[in-house]
Amino acid sequence: MPKKYHIHTKVTPLNLDYVFKFRIERGENCINCGKCTKVCIYEAHKRGKGGDPRKMADPNTMVCRNCFRCIQECPRGALEKSLDKDFLNIGGSYWKSDMFITLWKQAEDGKVPVTGAGYRGPFTGPGFDSMWTDMSEIVRPTRDGIHGREYISTSVELGRKLNHLTFDDCGKLLSKIHDTIDIPIPIIFDFPQDNLSHNVKTAIVRAAAELNTCVILSADRIAADLKKYTKNIIPLIPHKEIDKHQALIKSVRMVAINYNDEVLSTLPALQDKIKKINNVLTIFRVPATNAVETIVSSLAQSGAEIIHVVADYRGMEYGSSRADRRLAKDIIRAVHLKLVEDRIRDEVTIIFSGGIAMAEHVPKAMICGADLTAIDLPLLIALGARLYEEPEKILVFPEALEKISVRTIMHRIVNLMGAWHSQLLEVMGAMGIREARRLRGETGRAIFFDEIDNDTFGKLFKKRETAKI
Ligand code: SF4
Ligand code: SF4
Repeated sequence: MPKKYHIHTKVTPLNLDYVFKFRIERGENCINCGKCTKVCIYEAHKRGKGGDPRKMADPNTMVCRNCFRCIQECPRGALEKSLDKDFLNIGGSYWKSDMFITLWKQAEDGKVPVTGAGYRGPFTGPGFDSMWTDMSEIVRPTRDGIHGREYISTSVELGRKLNHLTFDDCGKLLSKIHDTIDIPIPIIFDFPQDNLSHNVKTAIVRAAAELNTCVILSADRIAADLKKYTKNIIPLIPHKEIDKHQALIKSVRMVAINYNDEVLSTLPALQDKIKKINNVLTIFRVPATNAVETIVSSLAQSGAEIIHVVADYRGMEYGSSRADRRLAKDIIRAVHLKLVEDRIRDEVTIIFSGGIAMAEHVPKAMICGADLTAIDLPLLIALGARLYEEPEKILVFPEALEKISVRTIMHRIVNLMGAWHSQLLEVMGAMGIREARRLRGETGRAIFFDEIDNDTFGKLFKKRETAKI
């Protein structure tokens, strides 16, 4: 049995003043009895260090999981939880405030987040929130632990695959098997923005190397000290600058090229030119416009090996008016179905990025039809950044970010991926799927709210509407 892929996490605090959903505060009427230190299993309450040890220190909201036990058990009613004023302002309609708290916690300790206050809904929403994965396998008595004996592979293969094999009359294989690259998690990093400090850039690249995945990085921005990580870097090269970057192409395993009409019309020659320099795989990046499925299909028919569909940071289609822009779930499904219709789906690898904000979005994107995902903003949120969607997209970085060590940032990104990997294993284990590659396009293993809503109530309301007319 192959060795299990394991992500080594390490508690890595940033010591920032995070925003929390609830702040826990100790009132003046506290008698320092210490009962709260015993009831809180997350050690949010401790006696004061350094000062008077008979007195309680301020509660550590960072580790609090909102179970309310200390509040109920305090004999003096001295503890209070209140909604943090900044909490509701972070994010926006897509990047919800709760997501930041979840991502910060995951980056801190690499664990699957736990909350004691339960979830009171809503149970559906737009995009990925309107689909649920089939967890029926979770009740199987043979389920003996995804971290134990059960082997679940989260690796995926990138590259062009054959639709079928051809043999000659003597049974000799005639088909040329294409080269592919395996990565152990269905996630690569897409560089979130170019103007990041050097320590952040280095940390993202080193985290990709530590996780054995890759990061897409503008070819002109690869500093000399990052060259030793070229196996984990996918340089984004303008299609007219292939010659200029020959030395770089010789040292990497994959390159990325932005799609345009000229790229499509010269694709086989362009791929050949790159392959003559080095036998690398080429990723074509296509913006998710309303014609994306047609473009992806044309690229695939022209021999593209890997196509990266890029939606905006909220997982929305580019270009059309906001009201009818498709969301990630529908964009991926449309691309997948078009390739199935054109009988070329199995030959090409599809990466999806844009709006991949939570661990659950990875398996959901794959169920909709992506082979793997690329993430960008979560890498910055892991290092404490805050995003505000309205009135325009603004990213606010922690003060003195450039002074945070590369190791700290790297560990936080590795932690984040550790937490996401554990959740991917949980989802796959519960679905009874043992190989991540089998998630691709498995829409029968998910429930889509629109479809069940339409099946259950659609006919009823449609009839009424018709009767009114
Ligand atoms: S249980 Fe209440 S009174 Fe006792 S130390 Fe904690 S906050 Fe103070
Ligand atoms: S609410 Fe629960 S988790 Fe939070 S401090 Fe109190 S006992 Fe600990």
